[in-house]
Amino acid sequence: MKKIFAIILSVMMVASLAIIASAETPLTATAPATTVASADFTTITATPDKTSVSAKGDKIVVNYVVSNNAGIMVLTMGRISTVVPTGLTLVDEKDGGLFGAPTTGANNVLYLMDADSKANGILYTATFEVAVDVKEGDTFTFSVPTIVAANYNEQAVQVNCVNATVSKAACTHANTEVRGKVNASCTQSGYTGDTYCKDCGKKIAEGTVIGQFLHTGGTATCTKKAVCTLCKQEYGNVNADNHPGTKVVNVKAATSTTEGYTGDTVCTDCGKTLKKGEAIAKIINPPTNDNSIVTIAVIAVLGIAAIAGAAVVYNKRREF
Ligand SMILES: [Zn+2]
Ligand SMILES: [Zn+2]
Ligand SMILES: [Zn+2]
Repeated sequence: MKKIFAIILSVMMVASLAIIASAETPLTATAPATTVASADFTTITATPDKTSVSAKGDKIVVNYVVSNNAGIMVLTMGRISTVVPTGLTLVDEKDGGLFGAPTTGANNVLYLMDADSKANGILYTATFEVAVDVKEGDTFTFSVPTIVAANYNEQAVQVNCVNATVSKAACTHANTEVRGKVNASCTQSGYTGDTYCKDCGKKIAEGTVIGQFLHTGGTATCTKKAVCTLCKQEYGNVNADNHPGTKVVNVKAATSTTEGYTGDTVCTDCGKTLKKGEAIAKIINPPTNDNSIVTIAVIAVLGIAAIAGAAVVYNKRREF
C-alpha cells in the first residue's frame, strides 16, 4: 500500500506539471518522470453517439474510450463538469467500470488498482443536453477532462486525449410550406408564393407571378358595358349594335285627307331610330254608313214635301 500512495502522490505532482496535451499537440509539455515511446501512448477518445444535433433539447451521449492502453495502475480524471461545452448541460454521468469502481471527489475521479491494467473500453460516460437554440454550423467540442496516469513502476503514463465535435447538421429542408400565395383574378395578378423550410425558416424557393385574368362573360349593349361574371365589374366598351329593347313611335292613322304612318322603330335604351316607318295612303273611298242613309232620306222627304207644296200652291191658284 505504501507504494500505491507514493504513486498517487506522484500522479498529483505530475498533474501539476500539466503533461497532458490535446490531440493536436500531444505531450509536448514538461517531460514526464520516465519517457515512453509515442507508440505506447494510451489514448482516451471522446466518442459522441452522434455526429450532429438538430435542435434544443437533443441529447448527446459521450463515451470516453480508452484504447492502446500501455498499462495503468492509477488514473485521475477531471470531473466531466469541467469540460461541458458552452450551450450544453450535463444531465447524467456514470463510470464505465473499466478500471473498477472509482473514488469520486469534488474535482477528480480516481481509479486505483492493485496492478497495471491494460484494459481498453469505456472509461466513463456522460450525457449532455443541448440547452440553446442551434443553427446550422453551430459546433460543440467534447474534450477529455484532464487525465493523469501512472503505472506500477511509478512511471507517468502519457495519455493522448482526442476531442470530438458535434455540429448542427445542415438542414435537409424536409418540411416546407408555401407562404405569401396570392390567387390571380381578373382584377389583380397572383403569386405562387415562396417556399420556406419549416425546420430552419430559410427561404428555399422564390415564387412566380401569375398573370391577371381577362374579364369574362356578360353582354355589352348600346348603353352599357358588359359585366364580368367573375368580379361583377363593367369592362370593355359599349356595343353600339346591340339594342336590347325597341318600341315603335310616331304611328299615325290615315284619313281621307291625310296620309298615315306605320311608325319608326327606336331603341328604348339609346333612342336611336333603328327602322324608319312607311307612309299609309289616304282613305280614298269612305265606306257607306248610317248618316249618309239619313241624309238621303231627308233629301228624299224634302223633295216629296216640295212636290206636295207645289201641288197645294197649284190647287189654290185653281180656286181663284
Ligand atoms: Zn431547413
Ligand atoms: Zn372581372
Ligand atoms: Zn340602343
